[in-house]
Amino acid sequence: MSSIESFEAEPAVPTLGHFINGDEVPAANRTGAVFNPATGEVSKQVALADAAELEQAIIAAQTAFPAWRQTPPQKRAQILFRFKSLLEQHAEDICQLITAEHGKVIDDAHGELGRGIEIVEYACGISELLKGEFSKNAGPEIDSWSEFQPLGIVAGITPFNFPAMVPMWMFPLAIACGNTFILKPSERDPSAPLLLAKLFQEAGLPDGVFNVVNGDRETVDLILQDSRIAAVSFVGSTPIAESIYQKGSANGKRVQALGGAKNHAVIMPDADIDNAVSALMGAAYGSCGERCMAISVAVCVGEEAATKTVSALQERIEGLKVGPGIDAENDMGPLVTAEALQRVKDYIEEGVTAGADLVVDGRGLAVPEHESGFFLGPCLFDHVTPQMSIYQDEIFGPVLCVVRVQSLNEAMALVNQHEYGNGTCIFTRDGEAARFFSDHVTVGMVGVNVALPVPIASQSFGGWKRSLFGDLYVYGPDAIRFYTRRKTITQRWPASSVTEDAKYSFPSS
Ligand code: NAD
Repeated sequence: MSSIESFEAEPAVPTLGHFINGDEVPAANRTGAVFNPATGEVSKQVALADAAELEQAIIAAQTAFPAWRQTPPQKRAQILFRFKSLLEQHAEDICQLITAEHGKVIDDAHGELGRGIEIVEYACGISELLKGEFSKNAGPEIDSWSEFQPLGIVAGITPFNFPAMVPMWMFPLAIACGNTFILKPSERDPSAPLLLAKLFQEAGLPDGVFNVVNGDRETVDLILQDSRIAAVSFVGSTPIAESIYQKGSANGKRVQALGGAKNHAVIMPDADIDNAVSALMGAAYGSCGERCMAISVAVCVGEEAATKTVSALQERIEGLKVGPGIDAENDMGPLVTAEALQRVKDYIEEGVTAGADLVVDGRGLAVPEHESGFFLGPCLFDHVTPQMSIYQDEIFGPVLCVVRVQSLNEAMALVNQHEYGNGTCIFTRDGEAARFFSDHVTVGMVGVNVALPVPIASQSFGGWKRSLFGDLYVYGPDAIRFYTRRKTITQRWPASSVTEDAKYSFPSS
C-alpha cells in the first residue's frame, strides 16, 4: 500500500463564516471545530474572527447607524413584525440547527425559540417604549422633557446553552432602540444565530444594522478594546462575565454581564411532593442541566420531606429517556462537548470522594449507536453538605444535589450565603412562608411553586450577587434603559416683546 493510499483524509465539513453588512462573509483565517454532541463528530468548522474580520462589521455597523437612528420607531417595529413572522415560519429549521449543535431535545429548542420570539413581540411595541417623559411648565414658559437616544454600536457576546434565545434577549431590543448591533455568538453552536441574522435581513432590516461575527476569546478581546463599540451585553460563566465587566468598563463602555448560577429549590414539609418532584425533574435534568436557571440543589426541610423527595426522584429518573435530541421520544440529550462531559464526571468523582451519597449514578449510561456522543445519565446526590465542591460550584450538567435541613431559616441561610443569586424557588402550601422567602431571599428571580421562574418578556431577567455584573437586567424595561442614553432638554420660548435683565442667582422654578 502506498503512503498516499494509507493516508485517511478527514471528511470535508462546511465552514461557517460571518454575516456582515447584509451578506455572508467567509472565514478569513482561523477556524474552530463545531461538534454534533449526539455523535461526537465534528460537523462543521466555524470562523474565529481576527481584527480585520471584526473591522468589517464595525465599519458596517458604523455606516448603518446614522440612518437607522433616524428611522421612526414605528418603521423599525414594522420590520420586527415581519421578523417575528419569519421566525415562526422557519421555527423548525432554527430548532434543528440548535439540536444538531447544542444537543438539546427538539421540543426544548422550540421552547427556547418561543421565549426569544416573545422578546421580538415586546420589541414590536418600541414606539410606546421610547415615548420619553415630558414636563409642561417646568418653569416660566419652559417645557422640559427626557428622550432616550440610541448609544451607537452595541455588541452582544453569548453562551452556548441558548444559541437563539440569549442573542434574542439582546439584539431585537437594542436594534429597536435605534442602535446597530454586532453579535459574537458561542463558537460551539453558531448556525442558529447566523440564520436569525439572515431572517432579520429578509424582514427588511437595512444592511449593517445587525451583524454576526463568529469568534472566540481573541475576538472578544478585540471587541472590548474598540472605542467605537459603545456598550456590551454579555451572558456566560461568572469568571468571564466578571472580566468582561472590568475590561469593558475600564475602556469606557456600558456593560451588563450575566454570569453563572447555583439555583436552590426549597421543599417545605407541607409541599405537594409529587408535583414538586415533577417540576424538579424538568428543572434539574431538562437540557441536560445546561441552563443558567437549572435547579442544581434541592434543599429539603425536615427528614420526611427529604426521604419522600429522594425516593420520588429516584423513581422518576428510571423513566427518563436519554438519547439524541433529534428523536422527539427523548427527554434529555447529550452534554455539549467532550470537555463538558469530562468536567461533570470529575465533579461526580469529587462528590463521591467528599462523602456525598450518589443515589443515582448516570456515568454507566450507553446510548446505542451513539457510543461516541457526549452522553451522561441523570445523577442524584443525597446528603450533600455546603463544604463540598458539588454544592459550591456550578456543575452545568445533569447532577442534582439534595441537602437536608431542619427549618426554613436554615434553608434560606444556605441560599443567601451562596456566591450566586440567579434563580431560586420554594415549594409550599404556606403563604406566610412563601412571602417571607420571596421577601428576604438574596436572589434576583424567585419562584413560588414555580421551578424555573424565568421572567416574561415585559419584565426583565437578571440575578444578584456574582450572577450579574452591572446595574441593569436584560430585556424588558431594563433593556430600554441599557440600550439608550437619556437626554433631558429644557426649552423656553419667552414673549419676544419683553426685555430681560441678567440674573445672577441660580435659576429655580
Ligand atoms: P463561557 O463563559 O465559556 O462563554 C460565553 C461567551 O464568552 C462565548 O461567546 C465565548 O466565546 C466567550 N468566551 C469564552 N472564554 C472567554 C475568555 N476567556 N475571554 C473572553 N471571552 C470568552 O460560557 P458558556 O460555557 O458558553 O455558557 C455557560 C455559562 O453561561 C454558564 O456558566 C451559565 O450559567 C451561563 N449562563 C448564564 C445566563 C444568565 O442569564 N445568567 C444565561 C445563560 C448561560
